[in-house]
Amino acid sequence: MLCWGSNCPVPAYQGIKGGLFELPYLLKCVVKGMDDRFILHNVKRVDGEEIDIVIEDGRIIGITPVGQGIPAQTQVENDTTTADDRLGTPSQSQSVDGITVYDGQGSYVSSGWIDMHVHAFPEFDPYGDEIDEIGVKQGVTTIVDAGSCGADRIMDLARSSQEAMTNLFAFLNISRIGLKRIDELSNLEWIDRGKVLASVDTFSDVIVGLKARISNSVVGGNGVKPLQTARRLSIETELPLMVHIGSAPPDITEVIPLLERKDIITHYLNGKKNKLFDEQGQPLQVLQEAVARGVHLDVGHGTASFSFQVAEAAKQYGISPNTISTDIYRGNRLNGPVYSMANVLSKFLLLGYPLEQIIAAVTTNAAEWLGRPDLGRIRTGDVANLTLFSLEQESAILTDSEGEQRTTNQLIKAKGVYTNGTFIKCEVRP
Ligand SMILES: [Zn+2]
Repeated sequence: MLCWGSNCPVPAYQGIKGGLFELPYLLKCVVKGMDDRFILHNVKRVDGEEIDIVIEDGRIIGITPVGQGIPAQTQVENDTTTADDRLGTPSQSQSVDGITVYDGQGSYVSSGWIDMHVHAFPEFDPYGDEIDEIGVKQGVTTIVDAGSCGADRIMDLARSSQEAMTNLFAFLNISRIGLKRIDELSNLEWIDRGKVLASVDTFSDVIVGLKARISNSVVGGNGVKPLQTARRLSIETELPLMVHIGSAPPDITEVIPLLERKDIITHYLNGKKNKLFDEQGQPLQVLQEAVARGVHLDVGHGTASFSFQVAEAAKQYGISPNTISTDIYRGNRLNGPVYSMANVLSKFLLLGYPLEQIIAAVTTNAAEWLGRPDLGRIRTGDVANLTLFSLEQESAILTDSEGEQRTTNQLIKAKGVYTNGTFIKCEVRP
């Protein structure tokens, strides 16, 4: 792919402040050789409204009732492969006179899915993966890396997103070493205040919060000390915290009271001993108080942090997720139990959440948290940022992080995304 390297006129590409989406998006469009006009024909919003979406030069120029977005002379045919693409080709599209029509019959459309908890720094093992493998190929147009990198490597993560089709934000790990080791808060000297402040300042377009993993295997004998430091850094940087919870010590009742409005608890449905629900499935008081003061609940499914039993109890007591995220990385993508965003979303269908609420948890809710409402809507004049997916009546077995299995009769399947001026077909198991 063409890269302008250090001569690149786009500031965000040089690792300094710039418009993360607008300018790189335009450059990516040029690089990709986007279509003049792309029409998503016959797609359905989650409320059932059937529409055509007309996109020109990567921007939505019209949203019409079905059929009205297509010029009269254009025929729509199924299964005609025309558009060439590095990542995949639309299989139901045809191109005439610079107009490509994708027949989306049977598909839903939403704004591009946002995954609030991923590990997108491939160099780190085990918690790493390639950006587009866990992004656009999954139907996810925006990923938020959940603290893979601290101050030592955040520049490399920020730069790597320029090679990808997926948009990227990040939580900065308060430990400068990030997930180079998985006990990154066991030595308090790895929390370097000056480096945190400098990183936040330099990468303000990318960094949306600070990450602190507060469980025994990460903090060692330090208890809640790293979280107290994280709180002080949050005040200084005016950035919210994402806090990973897991095994004690520290006990969960010491952790949660330190969280404030807009902070995120990730892994809130974990089934570990130190979880947020008691043995009868009732939410602990610290959780109820946290919800009441505006702490945000995020799923962060992961290899070890999503339990059907806990999720059922949470639903019963009305403790719904604000955002549904995967905590995906190479291992749990290839071998489960995460596999893909669609797989995680299908688990929430099985739990009985309505489709509209599930999709809101990966679109509007996440976009609002990010302070980017444009990423959570479909509106004429906006840069096109869309996910196409289907709801299939199909039997499948879904597995949680405890190894428990449930049989479902419905699956959400990601079919494609339109982002950065290009349609990309999804390539994942459901
Ligand atoms: Zn994680």
